[in-house]
Amino acid sequence: MNESIHGERTASEPQDRSSSVAHSIEVPSEIIRKWQEIVNLLAEIMHVPSACIMRVDPPHIKVFVSSRSEGNPCEPGALDTGPYCETVMKTGQPLLIPDALENEAWKANPHVRLGMISYLGVPIGWPNGRIFGTICVRDNKRNEYSEAYLKLLLHFRDMLQADLKSLARLHGEIEERETKIRRLVDSNIMGVFIWDFDGRILEANDEFLRMVSYDREDLVSGRIRWADLTPPDWRDRNNARIEQQKSSGRFESFEKEYIRKDGSRVPVLIGGATFEEGGNQGVAYVLDLTERKRVEAEARENEQRYREAQLELAHANRVATMGQLTASIAHEVNQPLSAVVANAEACLGWLRRRTPDVDAACRSVEWIIADGNRASEVIRRVRALANKTSLEKVPLDVNDVVRETIPLVQRELISHQVLLRMELAPTLPMILGDRVQLQQVIINLVMNGIESMQSVTDQPRELAVRSRQDETQQVLVSVADCGVGISAENADRLFTAFFTTKSSGMGMGLSICRSIIDAHGGRLWAATCEPRGALFQFTIPAD
Ligand code: ADP
Repeated sequence: MNESIHGERTASEPQDRSSSVAHSIEVPSEIIRKWQEIVNLLAEIMHVPSACIMRVDPPHIKVFVSSRSEGNPCEPGALDTGPYCETVMKTGQPLLIPDALENEAWKANPHVRLGMISYLGVPIGWPNGRIFGTICVRDNKRNEYSEAYLKLLLHFRDMLQADLKSLARLHGEIEERETKIRRLVDSNIMGVFIWDFDGRILEANDEFLRMVSYDREDLVSGRIRWADLTPPDWRDRNNARIEQQKSSGRFESFEKEYIRKDGSRVPVLIGGATFEEGGNQGVAYVLDLTERKRVEAEARENEQRYREAQLELAHANRVATMGQLTASIAHEVNQPLSAVVANAEACLGWLRRRTPDVDAACRSVEWIIADGNRASEVIRRVRALANKTSLEKVPLDVNDVVRETIPLVQRELISHQVLLRMELAPTLPMILGDRVQLQQVIINLVMNGIESMQSVTDQPRELAVRSRQDETQQVLVSVADCGVGISAENADRLFTAFFTTKSSGMGMGLSICRSIIDAHGGRLWAATCEPRGALFQFTIPAD
């Protein structure tokens, strides 16, 4: 029997990650209950007063589970001071002491003093080969413990080891998951903090502390609560998320701001969840959006600068065109006009003679007519001048032209507090057109609309730019305002060159617009808007 006992070895598996913490793994209560039944059963079957499971609890060995049997001197949690189990653990082999009193080496040990003179124990190991403890029986009388008893003990030991194996695996998995989470938290890629619904911050990683510029002590001491980090103007939105979290256990990530220790603000994206449903604690992850916001603002600024530059260019173009026109008109018209006046005076002279020289007067009148024609030719040429750059017609989507134009007048819209409504047809047939000239038409119509609403103070200044395909399949663009509108007497004259009702107006805008649209084979006209305002529309044939 001794041979078979000494031949037994504990299972030994390669060391795994849990080895270092094996001693600290807690055995759950349901397993302890099962083990309790095992030792009770052992004591009963073997008719011994004591069956125990011992566990190493460095530097001691402690009674882990002890049979509820009569005469058992071992209490769970008590230290095991005797050498029996220690020997089993050291050798890693079963030990049988039928009667300690017969053996010099064993006769004076604490177990004997407790009356336990015989012992049979086997080692219990963790799957990694580390010792967990022993399972053993003791008797207050001599006991040879038959081979069957040893087998029974080993059988129960195997059951315990199977439990330890599942426990170690579970522990390993949890540990691995914890390590990953810890890595995420410690890598400081994002801010992480653990909170409770009572308002406390229980833990925070370095990145979160950096974002809010508090010391860990400020937060985990409870002096600063998470609600204190939220500016007052964010609290309503914040509270809505807290309610969401209370009811669903998590909240969708959202952008908000935190107040730093120095009072400045930091934009963040935050999301979170409670650890368990209905639980009081949870984790929040926080991303610092400062850099993203800065880049966005920079892009917006650049865009704005670009638009302003374009608008200035458009303004400059407009002014330059007007300036050129004025100069050339003045020069060109002035000459024939002076000639008309001179000839008219000459004509009067011929007619006032005592004997009027009708032939000479007629010649003067003919020159007057010729000069008049020359003047109107000048005007015609000036108007043609507006179109003088040859059209560069390419296939265009008018919606694109409208969209490209709007940024150019954005500043004017804003500074005049005009609300722009765009209602563009989802699809339009392409047209053949000159992109720049069509933009000029739209700019002119929009600028006129803005100017016409300058005196409107009793309602929003709304300007609508629309596009659609009309009944004749042409592309139609309209610009409607709610400004001063067009009086019946002016309706016919708007498109006449030099007609203006503005003190600083040139009266060339609409006339140029009309010639551009004409050159595109289209039509530009005006109507009144109900209940107020003007509507300018133009059509261009589809390509
Ligand atoms: P100007 O630059 O002098 O305004 P335009 O040819 O663009 O030259 O316009 C001629 C005139 O047509 C304007 O002076 C104004 O009386 C009238 N007009 C143009 N657009 C509008 C509008 N949206 N609402 C009312 N009147 C307008």
